[in-house]
Amino acid sequence: MSPVPLLDLKPQFATIRDEVERTISRVVASQLFILGSEVADLEREIAAMTGSAHAIGCASGTDALVLSLHALGLGPGDEVVTTPFTFFATASCAVRHGAKPVFVDIDPRTFNIDPAKIEAAITPRTKAIIPVHLFGQCADMDPILAIARKRGIAVIEDACQAIGASYASRTLGGVRRAGAMGTTGTLSFFPSKNLGAFGDGGMITTSDDGIAARLRVLRVHGERERYKHEAVGWNSRLDALQAAVLRVKLPHLDAWSDGRVANADRYDRLFREGGLVDSERVTLPFRAQPKGHIFNQYTIRVRRRDELGEHLKARGIGWGIYYPIPLHLQECFAGLGYTPGSLPEAERASREVLSLPVYPELSETQIAEVVQAIADFF
Ligand SMILES: *Cc1c(COP(=O)(O)O)cnc(C)c1O
Repeated sequence: MSPVPLLDLKPQFATIRDEVERTISRVVASQLFILGSEVADLEREIAAMTGSAHAIGCASGTDALVLSLHALGLGPGDEVVTTPFTFFATASCAVRHGAKPVFVDIDPRTFNIDPAKIEAAITPRTKAIIPVHLFGQCADMDPILAIARKRGIAVIEDACQAIGASYASRTLGGVRRAGAMGTTGTLSFFPSKNLGAFGDGGMITTSDDGIAARLRVLRVHGERERYKHEAVGWNSRLDALQAAVLRVKLPHLDAWSDGRVANADRYDRLFREGGLVDSERVTLPFRAQPKGHIFNQYTIRVRRRDELGEHLKARGIGWGIYYPIPLHLQECFAGLGYTPGSLPEAERASREVLSLPVYPELSETQIAEVVQAIADFF
């Protein structure tokens, strides 16, 4: 048996290497590195792909969240309702503006925010809801958008793990892509995401012309015209080099995501055929809709998770735990007053989740090895 890493970016790079190298040479020859036409072209392409009127490049997915909240005018005393079972940046973006994250427990099947628990968390200070499309599956947006509309609050979709994912909406009139349903959507080009740059990068999608215009100003020090500052903004720009690399990759994105879905299907089948799927052993990832999940992670629930992790490590099989500590129990948020037991589903998920290798270039043999190793453990 050969080792199976959680993620190996090299085989995918090998398929586009020549084109990427030519593109990098072209940008280097131009000596134009900040924003510029590569970024503008990528913004148009991502806007079209997601179905948003605008896309605004920025330095990271984290900045996409921070800038979105800034464009909405978030400030001290405001509250942002979100999930505790996510990457840190989903909540830290609110704190950056002096606002307070209010955590709502998750749906144990999808790991996404439970819409039925949102209303109870809303107060007159709530300015935004940030649903996260965790692991590549959209949160249940219809009820979230309905609550937000009724209360007049914004929705920021944290689509950092879900570029290209889709959601069949009953209220928006059909299938929509991640990032095109809320007031804004945030994307990350961190290398491990489905569309990864050669470093950090991010983007905000929106169909609100006013917000788009504000974001373009905020990402360059609040400057609309050179050296005239209408707001105190940020230095948060996407480089031309990153944009150029991403433009080579973007046409392949759907095929790569389909490869992940095919791998997820294969895992599901092998786990079922192996008789491993039950409450004492493996719980498969739940797909709330038949289509649309892009499997940035293939995440199972297991009992004795840490022992299983040790066993897989000894067999050379990579895995990840997203996330071992829910945000409401992070030390830096102790002042918010949550305690163990406050959000039981997020806490249970933190003890039970295990993400397995699912990148598109995995072979059938490698997937079979992973399932066999888990079967041997049980
Ligand atoms: C990756 C990620 C981010 C942050 O993206 P960066 O580009 O790393 O700053 C935010 N939210 C979620 C859910 C993520 O997975």
